Amino acid sequence: MDRVDCVVIGAGVIGLAVARRLAKAGREVIILEAAEGIGTVTSSRNSEVIHAGIYYPAGSLMARMCVSGKRALYEYCREHGIPYRNCGKLIVATTPKETEKLQSIRAHAEANGVLDMQTLSGDAARALEPVLNCDAALLSPSTGIIDSHAYMLALRGEAEDSGAAFAFHTPLLAAKAVADRIEIDAGGDAPMSIECSLLINAAGLAAPAVARSIDGMPIDLIPRAYLAKGNYFSCSARAPFSHLIYPVPEPGGLGVHLTLDMAGQARFGPDVEWVDSIDYAVDPARAERFYPAIRRYWPTLPDGALMPSYSGIRPKIVPPAVAAQDFLIQGPQDHGVAGLINLFGIESPGLTSSLAIADYVGEMAGI
Ligand SMILES: Cc1cc2nc3c(=O)[nH]c(=O)nc-3n(C[C@H](O)[C@H](O)[C@H](O)COP(=O)(O)OP(=O)(O)OC[C@H]3O[C@@H](n4cnc5c(N)ncnc54)[C@H](O)[C@@H]3O)c2cc1C
Repeated sequence: MDRVDCVVIGAGVIGLAVARRLAKAGREVIILEAAEGIGTVTSSRNSEVIHAGIYYPAGSLMARMCVSGKRALYEYCREHGIPYRNCGKLIVATTPKETEKLQSIRAHAEANGVLDMQTLSGDAARALEPVLNCDAALLSPSTGIIDSHAYMLALRGEAEDSGAAFAFHTPLLAAKAVADRIEIDAGGDAPMSIECSLLINAAGLAAPAVARSIDGMPIDLIPRAYLAKGNYFSCSARAPFSHLIYPVPEPGGLGVHLTLDMAGQARFGPDVEWVDSIDYAVDPARAERFYPAIRRYWPTLPDGALMPSYSGIRPKIVPPAVAAQDFLIQGPQDHGVAGLINLFGIESPGLTSSLAIADYVGEMAGI
């Protein structure tokens, strides 16, 4: 059996950021990826928003890592020439009742360390976005968008430059914890058996399944996986906005919001559809719920403008009735398996937080 120092399962944005972090610290790293390339699953099915860190529960890993990850990500983009745009976002209140909520959203953001929020009157918001229907708004200047594929390519390049090796079409099938090492069986094109002293489970939606396949990992500490699909619609009309536009959130979700890609194309969503299995098809009928929600802040959205686009699936570890979940990052002190770190429930803001998550994992591993 071949022996390597570190094995990372999954080459999504999290596995890539962790692999880069470990390789740059001089560790020998192999990344096992079931698919044909990097970032083909949730990491290419998201909004590509660099989140500010406004809503997450105070003190949560999400709140802390979003704020520190956002700073690190902007810096990374500047240093590595990754396309990004610090376009800002407006949280738009369309009724006086919603306007009352803006102050508490701002106070919550400030408790999370997001100190640059600005409260705008309806007129001030319309000076930025003339077609908005708006009673008042909050401006989040530190929100932005990123070319996530360029970012992942840069992470891969840096990991490889530091000696990391990628094995694609190579799913982890089973593993076994043996004293101070973990033995791994991988299948696919070139089945292999290797042992390592550090195993990072960054398998995204499959992270709970991967943990269950590790002999020695206590089953009762593995969260159950739930799937919350997010559907997107694109817009055939040119959307006349230069900021991301979010309604005031309702209990259970952020509402139907407008984000922009790096080409300036608008997309609406994601909504929330709890599903039992992975199917990325977007049901065109769901547009009927999007129109009235969007027209609250963009009344002139033309009929027939929305077209089904793509979807992504949030790797939930709590059932629908539970409002909030946090990232769950388990190390040996949590589960007792030497050299194993599990990353569960890395939903949004996982992309924004990726560099902070990688640092956290590195510190947990003493690297
Ligand atoms: C609808 C939606 C919108 C989002 N929008 C944003 C946003 O705007 N901003 C933001 O910050 N975050 C956003 N996120 C969150 C972000 O996309 C995720 O947090 C991030 O992509 C998770 O990356 P990952 O590497 O953990 O998972 P993935 O990208 O899914 O990667 C996991 C990898 O593991 C591989 N794998 C699985 N099983 C095995 C196995 N047995 N062996 C080997 N490999 C395996 C998979 O093939 C996959 O490549 C969004 C998420 C969703 C669903």
